[in-house]
Amino acid sequence: MNKKIIQKIKNINRLRTKLLIKYFPFYIDYKLSKRKGDCGDCSFCCGSCKDLSKKGKCLIYENRLINSNCFTEFPIDKLDLLITLGKYKEMCNYRW
Ligand code: SF4
Ligand code: SF4
Repeated sequence: MNKKIIQKIKNINRLRTKLLIKYFPFYIDYKLSKRKGDCGDCSFCCGSCKDLSKKGKCLIYENRLINSNCFTEFPIDKLDLLITLGKYKEMCNYRW
């Protein structure tokens, strides 16, 4: 798939996540309560974030919420996982 189209889908997914967090927190709570696994700090979900070092470490980890594109709730559901990581979705430790 074209890179621009993929980026648009990712942007729509980010908007979806923001809206769900703001207006449907019960959905987020429900999905996170069903989620299994722990974050392995692989940083795959950080993508090309400007605050990600070349070694794959977050440069602002303690204050990462100042970055409006950073979601500590990731992945909120399977769709989020699929859209954000695509073929690398298996790299994430979280499952439902
Ligand atoms: S700010 Fe968030 S998305 Fe960016 S590198 Fe840090 S943890 Fe990853
Ligand atoms: S992809 Fe999954 S396991 Fe890796 S840093 Fe993101 S949330 Fe954690």
